[in-house]
Amino acid sequence: MRLCDVHCHLFSSRFLELLSEGIADLPVTGRATAVSQRIGWTDPGPIEALADRWAAEMDRHGVARMALIASIAGDEDSVAAAVERHPSRFVGFFVFNPAQGNIAARLSRPLGHQGLRGVCLFPAMHGYRLDDERVREVFAAAATHGAAVFAHCGVLSVGIRKKLGLPSLFDMRVGDPLALAATAARFPDVPVIVPHFGAGFFREALMAADQCPNIHLDSSSSNGWMKFHPGLTLDGVFRQAVAVAGASRVVFGTDSSFFPRGWQQPVYAAQEAAARDAGLSEEDRMQIFGGNFERLFP
Ligand SMILES: [Zn+2]
Repeated sequence: MRLCDVHCHLFSSRFLELLSEGIADLPVTGRATAVSQRIGWTDPGPIEALADRWAAEMDRHGVARMALIASIAGDEDSVAAAVERHPSRFVGFFVFNPAQGNIAARLSRPLGHQGLRGVCLFPAMHGYRLDDERVREVFAAAATHGAAVFAHCGVLSVGIRKKLGLPSLFDMRVGDPLALAATAARFPDVPVIVPHFGAGFFREALMAADQCPNIHLDSSSSNGWMKFHPGLTLDGVFRQAVAVAGASRVVFGTDSSFFPRGWQQPVYAAQEAAARDAGLSEEDRMQIFGGNFERLFP
């Protein structure tokens, strides 16, 4: 089996520059370096160096392929450059804000000649509903270009914003998998990925997946949202997700993001153990930890 990770963040120098735009006490030049020093991260450096660092990290852990997310609107060029450097290893996703309008035109470059393959929606961050007409336009563009839509539902916590003292004015109410299902049902050919099993909206994510055969659940992160469900365990989550959606629609991810931490091997180990404890067959586990990714992003 080839191990594939559907959820990793590309925290590029450009990402750090864009994210820190509102912070006054940073130098005008070398901002990414200054931000990295402030929070104890490895300076991302030029995008080629960062892409090579990720590829080496994947080699170290036996990860064949991963989805890398440009994690702030306006950083598509970074992930496109990383994919161009290692096309057999990376699939490019990017955060997109439909509330800014002009959707088809703004998506034509990243989904067109830049070859990115996943549009990432963060409704709680950008303030729109997942059954909004503008989200339908995103799905229509994804359908045109053969791309996937990644829609973050449930609780949202962005660690680097907290570290930098940036406000997180998120409205969790709009991250509803049922609203996503209303849109996803209209575009059955567009693969949809809901990270962290719905991040607290587990029941709703399962209901959405039950209604829409194109909705997939990603298993990424430590799944800290389980604290909102008394008694729930990670093996219970895997068992229930596979019971409802089938193993073909549960896709492994870690939510890895920065160096020196690198790829989150402990997250993989915990999920692999949970999938075994859930009694999933080897065939099911092979789909979850690699096969589904290869089918979605051949
Ligand atoms: Zn993430």
